[in-house]
Amino acid sequence: MRKVVIYLLSFGLFLTFSIDSEAQAPNIKKSSGRLTEKVEKASKNIVRRNSNGFRVPTAGQLKAWQFIVESIFKNRLDDAEQMIKQLSFPYEMSLFTDKDSKREYVLLEEEIPLQAGWGFYVFDLQTKNDLVLEIPHPVFDGNTEFQGIDAFLQTGARAFLLAGAHRRANTQDTPCTQPKSSDPDANYPVSDVAHAVATPFHTVHETLVKLMSTTIAVQLHGMTERDICPNAFMSNGSKTVTTNSKRLLDCLSKNGVESEIYDGNTTCPLNALSNVQGRFSNGETENPCQKTVKTSPEPGNFIHIEQETSVRKDKKSWQPVIEALKCAFPQN
Ligand SMILES: [Zn+2]
Repeated sequence: MRKVVIYLLSFGLFLTFSIDSEAQAPNIKKSSGRLTEKVEKASKNIVRRNSNGFRVPTAGQLKAWQFIVESIFKNRLDDAEQMIKQLSFPYEMSLFTDKDSKREYVLLEEEIPLQAGWGFYVFDLQTKNDLVLEIPHPVFDGNTEFQGIDAFLQTGARAFLLAGAHRRANTQDTPCTQPKSSDPDANYPVSDVAHAVATPFHTVHETLVKLMSTTIAVQLHGMTERDICPNAFMSNGSKTVTTNSKRLLDCLSKNGVESEIYDGNTTCPLNALSNVQGRFSNGETENPCQKTVKTSPEPGNFIHIEQETSVRKDKKSWQPVIEALKCAFPQN
C-alpha cells in the first residue's frame, strides 16, 4: 500500500487515500441490462435547450474528473468511486454487463433528474481497439446517440462519450474561438461540448488521448441536407487528409455511403476546425480552446463525420456507416 495525496487547488482541500497495488473493486455496484436502453434514458433526461441547466465545472472539478477516468483505466475503481463520493458528484459508477454484447463495461451515469448535465460514459477496459466513439450533440444531431451506441457495441470500441446537455442548453457563449455571427442561434454556448473545454466530456477525451496516444476518436454528428455536401462529410479537424480518414472513406464507399474528406478545397462548409477535441488530438494540447491547428499528424487520430438525415434516420440507414467503421478499424 502506498499513500497518494491529491491537492485540489480550487477546493482548497486535501484528499488522502490509499491505492491497492492489485486491482480490487469489491464496493463497486454490479448490474446488467442493455446499453441501448441506458442511452435512451440518458437522451430522454438530457438537460434541455435554453434551460441554463448545464453546470459549468470548476478547474478543480475537472481535475477530479480526470483522476476518475485515469483511475478507471488503471483498474483502480475504488479510487474513482472514492473521488466521486468525496466531491459529491451526482454520479454513479458501476460495472455493467450488456446483454447484447455480453461484455462488462465501466459506466459513469448521472443521477436523474440531472443536476449537472455532465454526460454519460462507457469504458471497455478489456478491448484492444483504439477506437473511441463521441456523441457531442445528442438530440440536436438527431439519433446520433443511438447510432453511436450501436457503433460502440459493434466495433468493440474502447469508450463511448455522450454529452449530458443539449448543445444549446445554456445561453452564455463559450470562451473558445468560434465563427463570429450576429445571429445568436449561430453562436456556440458553454454547453456545446465540441466547442468548450470546461466540460467533463472534453476532459474524458483529453485523458483518453493522454493515457493512450494511439486513441482514434470518431465523432458522429448530424447535418441538414445541403446540395454542396455529400451524405457523409469527414474532417480531421484540419486540411490534412490522413491515412485513417482515407481508409474510412474507402470503407464508406464500399458500403454505398456517398462521402468526402475536407481538404481545403471541398465545398461542404462543416469542416470542424473549431472543434476542441479535434484540436487536442491534433497536437494542440496547451490551448485547444483558442488555438487552431494547421495539420493532423499521421495516422490521423481524430475524425469528425457530419451526416445527412438519410444515413442516420434509423438502424437500417445508419448500419452502412457502422460497417465502414468496422472495416476501417477492425478489432485486433
Ligand atoms: Zn454536431
